Amino acid sequence: MRDTACVAGGFIRVLERAGADIVPIVYTDCSAAGHAADEAFEAYANEICDGIAAALPALDGVLLYLHGAMTTPTRTDCDLELARRVRRLIGARIPLMVALDLHANVPTDMARYCNAVFGFHYSPHIDMAETGARAAKALIATLRGELAPALTLIKVPVVLPSIFTATGLSPLKEIVAMGFAAEREDASVVDVSIFCGFAYADVPHIGFTVAVLTHQDAVRGERVAKTIAARIWQERQALLHAQPVLPLTAGVRQGLARAAAAKRPVVLLEHADRLNDSTWVLGELLRQRARRVAVPYLWDPVAAQACIAAGEGTEVSIDAGGRSSERAGTPVRLEGRVLYAGVKVFSGTGPMRRGRRIDLGPSALVDAGGIVVSIVSHPTTAIDLDPFTQFGLTVDDFRLIVLRSKTHFRAVYEPIASAILIVDTPDWGTAALSTLPYRHVPAGVFPITLAGTGA
Ligand SMILES: [Zn+2]
Repeated sequence: MRDTACVAGGFIRVLERAGADIVPIVYTDCSAAGHAADEAFEAYANEICDGIAAALPALDGVLLYLHGAMTTPTRTDCDLELARRVRRLIGARIPLMVALDLHANVPTDMARYCNAVFGFHYSPHIDMAETGARAAKALIATLRGELAPALTLIKVPVVLPSIFTATGLSPLKEIVAMGFAAEREDASVVDVSIFCGFAYADVPHIGFTVAVLTHQDAVRGERVAKTIAARIWQERQALLHAQPVLPLTAGVRQGLARAAAAKRPVVLLEHADRLNDSTWVLGELLRQRARRVAVPYLWDPVAAQACIAAGEGTEVSIDAGGRSSERAGTPVRLEGRVLYAGVKVFSGTGPMRRGRRIDLGPSALVDAGGIVVSIVSHPTTAIDLDPFTQFGLTVDDFRLIVLRSKTHFRAVYEPIASAILIVDTPDWGTAALSTLPYRHVPAGVFPITLAGTGA
């Protein structure tokens, strides 16, 4: 993990510079695809706790990197439970710093078990390594007696569809800037994290959390956190409507019209897709006989195998996508030529995946009458140029690009695209949060259980 763009890369950089002995325990991740199994949670929790227990005689501090929005069929508080178990193991005196994703749903009880939390400042998460570095620096400073961490966590009963957690969009951009201003202007404020939460986890502590870390000044920390929290509440309507969300048919029609007139490609965002296999937009594009369209990383291991069996250069007629749930649409018929077929593994090149091994598994590239679909066996979201370059393509070959990313694509595609159009579909990640069957979200959370009259 050394020198990677992820949190562990930042941990390692700072700890090695400080001359610390690192005891690595376990690193694993996957994208959001429903609950983690209870057995998986227990297995990893045990691996982490056993690793800490084994190191305990010589242990000075603990750094944990958790996402912060994990659930299992029986747990809505996985990350809190993990922090609780680690704290019980290490006792009150060993510092525990936790790095979390900007999309963490952070319960305020987290402050009981860890000395500080550090969240990504940005979505796209271009500062993952930097976040790891912030946590590791705070740990080292605490161990050296230079920092007496006092953490304030304040919940704000507001949650956004992930699409609107892009930190380049106003007014979220200005709210994030409030955290930086507090760090700059107030000597006792060490670190501010603004967590947007994750709308697609059904948990009581869903939504925004403001975390302020001070050097032994909890009163100041609370004042700063309350000011930022009040601003989030005040701006809730503007946050929820940061950009237009188009219905399917109109969105595709608009996308094609814009693409025909533009010099650079238009990005059509099928953002509600959570498993990269939705076929709502692809089906509509096939119906409208669109051309020069790229649909990268459609997840369908069965279709990928069928293309591999047929072989490169052959004509195929296969059903693809729409298998993960009834909300993902139905499989669509692709008729066209197999341009590539094989196992695709490479080293990531984008700002978020630099240096990481990307394994798409058995994959294929099919040109279905001008709609070029890359079909992969491991669900992966297209957020950078790898889906083009790794298959010998460039974005300039296309007028319209269908992406399923929420915010991460913006780091690479905002400068390239002539327009970004957001299309809402009936999938699990819909922007219409109040249509989802939440059971654990308490009354008063905007916009799920509180319509809000708003700013
Ligand atoms: Zn995230």
